[in-house]
Amino acid sequence: MFTDEYFMKMALQEAQFALEKDEVPIGCVIVSNDRVIAKSHNLTETLTDVTAHAEMQAITSAANFLGGKYLQNCTLYVTLEPCVMCSGALAWSQISRVVIGARDEQRGFINKGLSLHPKTEVTTGIQEYECSEIVKTFFRNKR
Ligand SMILES: [Zn+2]
Repeated sequence: MFTDEYFMKMALQEAQFALEKDEVPIGCVIVSNDRVIAKSHNLTETLTDVTAHAEMQAITSAANFLGGKYLQNCTLYVTLEPCVMCSGALAWSQISRVVIGARDEQRGFINKGLSLHPKTEVTTGIQEYECSEIVKTFFRNKR
């Protein structure tokens, strides 16, 4: 029931909410013990804030929910590979696991040679096609 695909679909739903606001469609959820404790989507245009990536907001709200800054026993599901800023924030959070939908070869942290916290397990390629297609379609329609 509570598979990676299940939670990635929720992250995709968040990406859809971003799309409806004409934001770059990236969404994420943070799960702790099979329970969603934070969900968010990219809001950089709405908030006119370049730091308002989905992951940054989810990290803050999950820490508020848990009442502690470290996201131990938590998994972040994000539709697109985190950028350098978000991967830095995730490393500081000591999150247990990060599940990525589509890779971002240009802006993602992996090709920059960065890694997350040593305790963080990373999984890629969950619902990859849908996660990648929503972003590609968005930019195709912008041009
Ligand atoms: Zn980011």
